[in-house]
Amino acid sequence: MNRRIFLGSSLSAAVAATLPGTVHGNTLLKMLAVVSSSVVGRTGNGDEITLEESALNELKSALRGQLLLAGNDGYDAARRVLNQSFDKHPALVVRPSGAADVATAVTFANERDLLVAVKCGGHSFSGKSTCDGGLQIDLSLMRGARVDRNARRAHVAGGSLLGDLDHECMAQGLVTTAGTVSHTGVGGLSLGGGFGRLARKYGLTLDNIKSVDIVTADGVLRHASADENPDLFWGIRGGGGNFGVVTSFEFGLHEMGRTVIGGDLVFSIDRAKQVIRGYADYIQDAPDELSLDLIMTAPPGGEPGAVVIHAVYSGNHADADRVLAPLTKLGDPLSNTIGPIDYVALQKVWDNSDPRHGGDYIKSGFVTDISDAQIDAIVDGFENHPDRSTTFFYGQSGGAINRVAEDATAFPNRNAISSPTVVVSWNEGADPEPHIKYIRSYWPTIETFTDGFYTNTGDYETQANVNKNYRGNFKRLVELKDRYDPGNLFRLNANVRPSTDSP
Ligand SMILES: Cc1cc2nc3c(=O)[nH]c(=O)nc-3n(C[C@H](O)[C@H](O)[C@H](O)COP(=O)(O)OP(=O)(O)OC[C@H]3O[C@@H](n4cnc5c(N)ncnc54)[C@H](O)[C@@H]3O)c2cc1C
Repeated sequence: MNRRIFLGSSLSAAVAATLPGTVHGNTLLKMLAVVSSSVVGRTGNGDEITLEESALNELKSALRGQLLLAGNDGYDAARRVLNQSFDKHPALVVRPSGAADVATAVTFANERDLLVAVKCGGHSFSGKSTCDGGLQIDLSLMRGARVDRNARRAHVAGGSLLGDLDHECMAQGLVTTAGTVSHTGVGGLSLGGGFGRLARKYGLTLDNIKSVDIVTADGVLRHASADENPDLFWGIRGGGGNFGVVTSFEFGLHEMGRTVIGGDLVFSIDRAKQVIRGYADYIQDAPDELSLDLIMTAPPGGEPGAVVIHAVYSGNHADADRVLAPLTKLGDPLSNTIGPIDYVALQKVWDNSDPRHGGDYIKSGFVTDISDAQIDAIVDGFENHPDRSTTFFYGQSGGAINRVAEDATAFPNRNAISSPTVVVSWNEGADPEPHIKYIRSYWPTIETFTDGFYTNTGDYETQANVNKNYRGNFKRLVELKDRYDPGNLFRLNANVRPSTDSP
């Protein structure tokens, strides 16, 4: 028996014997137990591969975190993502305790061309953070944010959720842009973009990244910043997970008071066209401190839908009434909850609006204006089906997001004023096909008005769409991919294929 395996099995027995309760003892035993058979896995190209028992035990004993196989405690929780449409079964799950474990897992996968999925918050709409037959690197043990008040920097572990970031930063009177749901992962959101209630004021989340630690496909831990590996630093800001696993982020922070002015204006869906027109006119010249999203929603159960303007003003409170006054011209709302609110609490108000117990399907794009024809397409095609919820969403862009040059980071969609998005959600067990079919017929009527899409949402359908969406940055991204991931180990993302593997 290999010495390390022997140590592992002796240790597991010894530790379990000292534990008072059987539950913890059994759990620990399962986690520490040696792997007793080989496992069939899949390479990135889909070929079957046998992962030998001895190699798995070597991997397990090299980790400080966990190696989970089907049947182990924690395996199902790790493999599942928020969108329950994706019920995938990785051959292996590694839950690293830190960068060293990430490097071990990446090296193990790279040596075998194993398919790799990287999971942070698990919010990938298209289920890219789980996989069948590959190695999933589940970063959920690597959470936490440390704020350096004087330097106005946050150091955030690569598996953290947005709530971790907001909570620690705001406690010091500081913020950076984060998304609108607190259990979204910092990893996926930041590397792909990062729209949120402060993005028009402070830029995308990725515009606030000052440096990262990243394990690239060769298993090397690198630091990337404006001064060190600047090419990689450019690429990770918009290139998503294409270049490696980020184990730590450093964000620049901004002073902000805890209380902002925010809430919802709710209108009858019968007035949808008029409300959207007024909204669209207003956002053209809105100040950077104002974030206005518009949601048209048809809830399940056939209840009447509504049009909601979600407003957040993070500027001087004395100016809020004046800034928000044009919204009153939209007519009397059914309800108005806009008022002072704690920023961290506001960041959680949509926490339960996700398809946690079901599936969803989403389509999204960017627009540079909102014409009457666009509004007609949105409202006329919007259907209320009693057995599921349909949502149309305009996420406001512009402001500081647009003042960054298209080639300053790998994120190219800098000219948009908004991002129209359609989502359909269904309950667990329902047949998704009719719902997906509806979105696929509704979305093209809106898509004609769009220019590119947000890689963090939706299904890209073809590789050509992904390539085109990187616009003028595509060539440079392929060069980076050739340098840092020539075997395309990190392919479950808005994939930049290496030049040897181009379509
Ligand atoms: C309920 C909900 C709300 C959302 N709200 C917003 C919003 O307000 N603003 C916005 O911009 N987007 C939003 N999104 C979209 C979101 O940005 C993407 O879904 C994003 O991918 C989520 O990141 P994650 O870490 O949770 O996802 P995961 O599914 O864990 O990861 C997605 C992908 O990101 C990559 N990745 C994740 N972590 C790392 C890492 N540490 N290193 C390298 N690669 C990594 C991997 O390629 C992975 O496949 C929302 C999504 C949902 C479901």
